[in-house]
Amino acid sequence: MSLVIVGSVAFDTIETPWERKEKIVGGSCTYCSLAASYFTRPKIVAVVGEDFPKDTISFLKKRNIDLRGLKIVPGGKTFHWQGRYGYDPNQRETVRTDLNVFENFRPEIPASYKKADIIFLANIDPDIQENIFLQVEKPKLVAMDTIGLWISSKPTTLLRVLKSVDIFFVNDEEIRMLTNERNLIRAGKKILGMGPSLVILKKGEHGALVFGPDLLFGILAHPCEDVIDPTGAGDSFAGGFLGYLDKVRSFSKREIRRAAVFGSVMASFTIEDFGIDRFKTLKPGEIQSRFEHFKKLISF
Ligand code: AMP
Repeated sequence: MSLVIVGSVAFDTIETPWERKEKIVGGSCTYCSLAASYFTRPKIVAVVGEDFPKDTISFLKKRNIDLRGLKIVPGGKTFHWQGRYGYDPNQRETVRTDLNVFENFRPEIPASYKKADIIFLANIDPDIQENIFLQVEKPKLVAMDTIGLWISSKPTTLLRVLKSVDIFFVNDEEIRMLTNERNLIRAGKKILGMGPSLVILKKGEHGALVFGPDLLFGILAHPCEDVIDPTGAGDSFAGGFLGYLDKVRSFSKREIRRAAVFGSVMASFTIEDFGIDRFKTLKPGEIQSRFEHFKKLISF
């Protein structure tokens, strides 16, 4: 099968109570495609400026990510996001967002991407998500993610996209915002009535819940003693989840559960270092052994 990921490739400035990193590589599409690359060959659609580091592009290529859909704007400046974490890694504040090359981005899907089986509309402007949706030919599965910024600034387009997708990745804060429902079970059920047939509710260090009309499955986050930088955990979860489904070519309930565990495993690696650095050393054997460790952790 094949997986197309549309999202941001970015510079992130990250502040934690212990350290600050200025303009390191991040972005929803970057994290997601790197995590997925351990299971399949993801194809990305994104835009960067001429300031984007060439060695990162080489690294993405080395990870076997298809970059035919990555546009480099001559003289342009790459999207920049700045976030601040407190002592609770689940709490983060967006300090600034510079759209830069995103402002005029009208994505064009390469012909070789149009018949993809799985499309992931990672966190990006809902207008761009919708535009991509209109360009692909009958995918077997469409998933999406978003953030509070788009829920408050573009709710109409966002709800329209949501109506047509199969899987919605969302965190506790965002689902409450979107449904006006404090109880997460009721909020999850509400989303199932708004379009998607599966909701993946991410709860940071407390794991995730998978909701379907006849499915409720909970997973832990891998117990990690040193969370260096929580950025990208959600995107890596989606990359592990969708990359695994693309690899096994099945959307059965059993594979959905396993995919959720692989999602959680990939997120757990991302947060062990700043930005995408953990992917520079991560080996497939480490993923498999963490998956096995997970099994022991949750069986009784
Ligand atoms: P996550 O921690 O998984 O929710 O994703 C963090 C990533 O989302 C960061 O690397 C940012 O570059 C990216 N991001 C933040 N805000 C936006 C936005 N408004 N549009 C697209 N990507 C964003």
